[in-house]
Amino acid sequence: MSDSSQIKRIAIVGGGTAGWMAASILARSLPGTGCVITVIESPEIGTVGVGEATIPPIIDLLRLLNINEGDFVRHTQATYKLGIKFTDWTRTGHSYWHPFGAFGTMINLRPFFHAWHKAKAANLAPRFNDYSLCAALGDAGKFRFPDATAQGPAAGLRYALHFDASLVAQYLRSYSERLGVTRREATVAQVTLREDGFIDELLFSDGSRLQADLYIDCSGFRGVLVEGALKTGYINWSEWLPCDRAVALPTELPAHRPPFTEANCRAAGWRWRIPLQHRMGNGYVYSSAHISDSEALDDLLSAVPEKPSADPRFLRFVTGRRKLLWNRNCVALGLASGFLEPLESTSIHLVMSGAYKLLEHFPNLSFAQENIDSYNNEVIQEIERIRDFIVLHYRTGRSDTPLWQHCQSMQLPASLQERIELYRRTGRIRYKAGELFTDLSWFYIFDGIGMLPESYDPLIDVVTVEQLQEILKSIAQANAAAANGVPSHDSYFAIGTKPR
Ligand SMILES: Cc1cc2nc3c(=O)[nH]c(=O)nc-3n(C[C@H](O)[C@H](O)[C@H](O)COP(=O)(O)OP(=O)(O)OC[C@H]3O[C@@H](n4cnc5c(N)ncnc54)[C@H](O)[C@@H]3O)c2cc1C
Repeated sequence: MSDSSQIKRIAIVGGGTAGWMAASILARSLPGTGCVITVIESPEIGTVGVGEATIPPIIDLLRLLNINEGDFVRHTQATYKLGIKFTDWTRTGHSYWHPFGAFGTMINLRPFFHAWHKAKAANLAPRFNDYSLCAALGDAGKFRFPDATAQGPAAGLRYALHFDASLVAQYLRSYSERLGVTRREATVAQVTLREDGFIDELLFSDGSRLQADLYIDCSGFRGVLVEGALKTGYINWSEWLPCDRAVALPTELPAHRPPFTEANCRAAGWRWRIPLQHRMGNGYVYSSAHISDSEALDDLLSAVPEKPSADPRFLRFVTGRRKLLWNRNCVALGLASGFLEPLESTSIHLVMSGAYKLLEHFPNLSFAQENIDSYNNEVIQEIERIRDFIVLHYRTGRSDTPLWQHCQSMQLPASLQERIELYRRTGRIRYKAGELFTDLSWFYIFDGIGMLPESYDPLIDVVTVEQLQEILKSIAQANAAAANGVPSHDSYFAIGTKPR
């Protein structure tokens, strides 16, 4: 490939989490290519200012970027997350976990959840927390790091972070600037296109301009390039994910910071609680067709015991995705690419994952359409599988309010309906390699919302009920041993102690 066909200039529009995360990943991965990366941040247009919960691949990103985890945790006021606890989703007072990490152990090469079903069918009354170290530690308000050298549950533990998204953007900005990324404070006022429809140049409100080969749209919901300039179009998924608003309210800290995200089901949506080192994040994600903004705020205020530390912030969104995530010489990442509501903390992950896929499909100036199609196919598959996973949460048994009645009767995406039918008949979960949410994650939600399979994998029957009872006992003992002596989650953030 000749040098003249290489991408030499990348312009990233947007300096929120998406913009700086993309800049960090690209700057770390493209050294020596002579590629100049510029991030354009508008001094007038703020960031969305929410996005506090992540999933375990965030830890892998820190490793990839060679960022010291303890340093990152200190600077972003982060706490540790062992999973999500869902309360009141099936009925008031009921809760279930989507924990990270291992659940029991494989039996006859079959996933443990088949043994779980068998144990239930045999009236062994298995207790969930005996087989999930993350859930057990979470409920006890404790936290430990995984121990790869240990045998048993401590090796299978996984965790993620809760962090202050604005501080993360600042941290990644410093990181990127150290790697040579240029920051430009300017507001894109106009975008000119070439004759072939590719983006030619950005014109800023101060009269200056910038030309690049590859443009990355991280401008948030606006989608200044992908929609504003390229008119890519949007696919709306609100028929399945009807929540379209949120109100966020930071408060003072409670007495203890739980090591998990709490997602509490409400009449017209759900509420989150996310602990950080310096504050508590709270919010209500709701459907504007079923509750007004002021009612949603009242509901949130009534449930939050701590004193607010800032004014409530209302946000509007439409769940869905751009028709194309890569259009001509523009790749959309973050909110510019679309939005799945935050129930499973997947948005920031999709930024990372989109940036990794961009590297796998890194173009030259010919912008081969086959390459662009391949990127779009991969990203669309990933987003649609995550969409199905989130929609499943809404198929909870609850039907006491108009929103929940709608959710029980709505026609599901065919891809989700297929998964549900397979699970209902066989207890099996169709899972393709590389999918973000594994069969285990799907099981947690199926089981949590009370969807019972008619049967379980017959290969589990190599163990008798008596043998299974012994296996369950030994797993529970191993979990209890791994939880023994584990410090409180709070102790990691006490004055004078350092996260690792
Ligand atoms: C209610 C809610 C809760 C959420 N919770 C989570 C969560 O728990 N976990 C999670 O992973 N994600 C969550 N998200 C999503 C998460 O907030 C975003 O994915 C993430 O913050 C990335 O945002 P962004 O950088 O794409 O956009 P933004 O933060 O909006 O940044 C946009 C940037 O573009 C710039 N810009 C805009 N227009 C122009 C212009 N014309 N010229 C120049 N610059 C411009 C702005 O200045 C800004 O810097 C949540 C979202 C919402 C709405």
